[in-house]
Amino acid sequence: MTRPLRLRFAPSPTGKLHIGGARTALFNWAYARRYGGRFVLRIEDTDPERSTKEHERAILEGLAWLGLDWDEGPDVGGPHAPYHQMQRIGRHKEYAADLLARGIAYRCFCTRERLEELARAQEAAREKSAYDGRCRDLAAEEAARRATAGESFTLRFRVQPGTTRFADRVRGDMSFDNKEVEDWVMVRSDGNPTYNFVVVCDDVDMQISHVFRGEEHLVNTPKQVLLYQAFGQEPPVFGHLPLMLGTDKKKLSKRTGDTALQDYRDRGFPRRAILNFLCLQGWALDGQTEIFGVEEFVQHFDIADVGKAGSIFDIEKFLWLSGEYIRREAPEELAENCLPFLVARGLTSEAGLRARWSWFLEVVGAERERIRTYGELADRAAYLFAPDAAVAYHDDALAAARKHAQRLETLRDYLEWLRPRVAGGVDSAAVRDATKAWVADRGLKMPALFQPLRCALTGLAGGPDLFDAMRWLGAPVVLRRLEIALERLA
Ligand code: GLU
Repeated sequence: MTRPLRLRFAPSPTGKLHIGGARTALFNWAYARRYGGRFVLRIEDTDPERSTKEHERAILEGLAWLGLDWDEGPDVGGPHAPYHQMQRIGRHKEYAADLLARGIAYRCFCTRERLEELARAQEAAREKSAYDGRCRDLAAEEAARRATAGESFTLRFRVQPGTTRFADRVRGDMSFDNKEVEDWVMVRSDGNPTYNFVVVCDDVDMQISHVFRGEEHLVNTPKQVLLYQAFGQEPPVFGHLPLMLGTDKKKLSKRTGDTALQDYRDRGFPRRAILNFLCLQGWALDGQTEIFGVEEFVQHFDIADVGKAGSIFDIEKFLWLSGEYIRREAPEELAENCLPFLVARGLTSEAGLRARWSWFLEVVGAERERIRTYGELADRAAYLFAPDAAVAYHDDALAAARKHAQRLETLRDYLEWLRPRVAGGVDSAAVRDATKAWVADRGLKMPALFQPLRCALTGLAGGPDLFDAMRWLGAPVVLRRLEIALERLA
């Protein structure tokens, strides 16, 4: 029987939107969009200590920014509202009571101390840590009596011997011996339900047909499948997406790259580059084409084509891809996109930039081949806005400038020579030609002047044409920076 196609993304608002979470959302969304299904957003906020409204807002905002729209969710509502897990607690209680009445769940009175001791003993004996089932066969009346008397208890799921199987559209047929699945806790002693329990209650109630999520959840799936069976429900189609690994082949961490979507956004990766890169995490268009839009992804995505090997989140490749997107932008568009990054960096104001827009367009045009993110333009153009005495001399620029023994003498002579030649403003082409002739006349090599000069004007070892930079800075600034450099380089 085919059922309506319903997919969901179910983030816990306990932190920023993880870049892996964004990929999970993207794959579910794309599948729903390709096959005409519904995409549901459910906020799994049952961990009251770690969940915050602020995280929830940021997650919704991040998804919307990516362009992943949802058909049902906490803000837009829908036929299965509420979409906050916390507000569904009444339903979870009904499910728990039903399982208890049917003997599929049982009350466990083991204290935390006893369980800790059990875990220690199992560890000492090198056994797998698992509940030993002490309360499993308590008579129902006795358990009810102890509960009524106020003894605290958890609810555990009674796992029966056998084998649990499910089809995974990424990993193939999966099968687990139930011996490997302990009698797990569904409801904690404080009444709070656990993830494995509520996720199934909600997926059943919301009629979710497909569950694609990170491979870290694979260990949970047998428990969840047993629960579907207990509810007499057909489990959804599962697809466990390969882990996103850092270049060190370990779980993605701050060490090998930022982990939050927001961090990439703040660094100025274009939105479409982020989407494109996420598509490549476990999926490929044709094995060759790396640059493609999300529209193409939606047209071609199938969960069965996702590879099971961990995908490498290679930040260098991401930067390359990002640069490719930057170079596809028209100058005007690129300038607009870079603007907020310069303002955020405190280099200038929006009005300040707009007042000399054609100047800014030229700067952007000169850097567009070099930058890979909008934020990099702010790095590279910072010298244009710096106070003359505070231009940051980067180490490599300083090292290059200092290589030349006569640098100060050359720079001093050049300054005096230049002064009258820019008195009426900087004509880049004329100054360039004349400077080259000046260098040749003195029998110098070009870098002997150009490197100290570049350091003095920009503080960078490389960059756009120096004489363009002179024009952007204007003659008074150029002359002042050369004077200052004579002291700073001494
Ligand atoms: N709230 C869970 C998480 O964020 C959802 C996992 C699932 O998709 O089942 O990991």
